[in-house]
Amino acid sequence: MTDKSLSISPTRKLGKTDLEVSALAWGMWRFAGDDLDAATARVEAALAAGINFFDTADIYGTGFGAAEALLGRVFARAPSLRKGVVLATKGGIQPGVPYNSSAAYLIAACEASLKRMGVERVELYQIHRPDSLAHPAEVAAAFDTLRGAGKIAEAGVSNYTRPQVAALRAHLPFALASTQPEFSALTIAPISDGVLDQAMEVGMGVMAWSPLGGGRLGGHSDDPRVKAVAAALDEIATRQGVSRASVAYAWIMAHPSGAIPIVGSQQPERIAQSVEALSVTLSRAEWYAVLTASRGTPLP
Ligand code: NAP
Repeated sequence: MTDKSLSISPTRKLGKTDLEVSALAWGMWRFAGDDLDAATARVEAALAAGINFFDTADIYGTGFGAAEALLGRVFARAPSLRKGVVLATKGGIQPGVPYNSSAAYLIAACEASLKRMGVERVELYQIHRPDSLAHPAEVAAAFDTLRGAGKIAEAGVSNYTRPQVAALRAHLPFALASTQPEFSALTIAPISDGVLDQAMEVGMGVMAWSPLGGGRLGGHSDDPRVKAVAAALDEIATRQGVSRASVAYAWIMAHPSGAIPIVGSQQPERIAQSVEALSVTLSRAEWYAVLTASRGTPLP
């Protein structure tokens, strides 16, 4: 293995599924407001950049269902845009509860999501956060019912621990497509808590949420740890003539789990620029320098 081996393929299959997804996804947590032209411009920027993997959730936007409804309006006005999208949404957060992964709730939540987006099915349906009161057999049954009805193509989870994934997999009659942890140069827990190892063990796709630490890596920070990580990223960015954000995305993608950063920007130019990350090649030493900056202590 050469030192310059941590390079990235622009598309890949999601886990063991047939879904062909881009190496970066675009996320709609911050997809808010009522401006249909602005919303459409973001969708078009992502697709034009080769980002076909879109991640939303029923709770995203300003008010429950708002981001999905806005995307539904974009698709209704320009139906051709839907065809190019591998659409992922999530359910299971119930405002005021806060979690509900009972089969009846999940099935109804998924059907409501489809309706808001004006689509027949989503390619990926994810449990947003684990519900301690739902038996994994019940979650699996909900996924199986939705899949049998053609309402979802594949199923995934988010914010699940390794044992929670194992318990769900034990009851699911088909492969779990993906897991979605928070993972970035600032949130490095999945590297050592077994979440990424498990994904590689069983063949699940990994979607990395808040790849810029929710924006903390985007600009200036006074936090010493954020500053140290930003400096490590900047050193590489300067050498390669790319943006810090591109190096931050590339750092995630360089992990052998093939993690897919979910770009959170709502600015078309930044969405377009994010794929610059595909041209970043990290050496082992560079990758470990960022990890060390994030840990704040040298590796043993
Ligand atoms: P992020 O990429 O870490 O942060 C995006 C934020 O950073 C935006 O507000 C963006 O502002 C700002 N930003 C500042 N400088 C930037 C730069 N140079 N380049 C790009 N953005 C910059 O991601 P995130 O929005 O926190 O999360 C991304 C996606 O992850 C969400 O949309 C959602 O799909 C998913 N997510 C999932 C969970 C979960 O529990 N499963 C939780 C949170 C998020 P501008 O818009 O002005 O560019």
